[in-house]
Amino acid sequence: GYFSRAVYKLIEIDKKYGLIRKGMRVLDLGAAPGSWLQWTSRRVGSSGLVVGVDLQPVSGNFPENTIFVTGDVMDDSLINNIIERWAPFDIVLSDMAPFTTGNKYADSARSALLAERAIEVARLALGQGGHILLKIFQGSDFPAILSILKKEFASVKTVKPKASRKESKEVYILGMKKIIREV
Ligand code: SAM
Repeated sequence: GYFSRAVYKLIEIDKKYGLIRKGMRVLDLGAAPGSWLQWTSRRVGSSGLVVGVDLQPVSGNFPENTIFVTGDVMDDSLINNIIERWAPFDIVLSDMAPFTTGNKYADSARSALLAERAIEVARLALGQGGHILLKIFQGSDFPAILSILKKEFASVKTVKPKASRKESKEVYILGMKKIIREV
């Protein structure tokens, strides 16, 4: 079985957009307890690689193509190490969520910080044509984040999977085909 019901949201998005393919390198931010790792490691197969990061450790068995790092995605040296060892990635996933307080303004602001960090990591980690899928709680920062992604990816879509509870403020933004501009 899967370690979390969160997997059904990824499966839905993956099936609709054909995101995760054989041989890909995947960076999964906020990966614990590991259901997205379970799905993606199977999809990329033995020629692919999946690297997961989370504040919380994971338990359970993952295939050989899967590496898990316990740590904070906000930590620059941790991210730099991952990039030095395994970049370029084909896709960055972020299902990161803040520890919620119940105050919707505070919660959406903290979710936006995590989303912005995922975008920053993706800038360093993705190769040309790479994709990003990130979770965000809809709030006042949402339009700004969408417009950042529209400058950096050829196609940007907002997705509310059926498996996501209707009353939840979470949505996913999918940016496909990273554009690399000459400077
Ligand atoms: N996709 C996961 C799965 O399928 O098992 C579920 C992810 S869960 C909804 C969100 C995760 O984000 C939590 O495990 C939390 O510890 C992690 N998280 C939140 N802030 C983080 C940070 N700064 N660095 C790393 N992980 C973080």
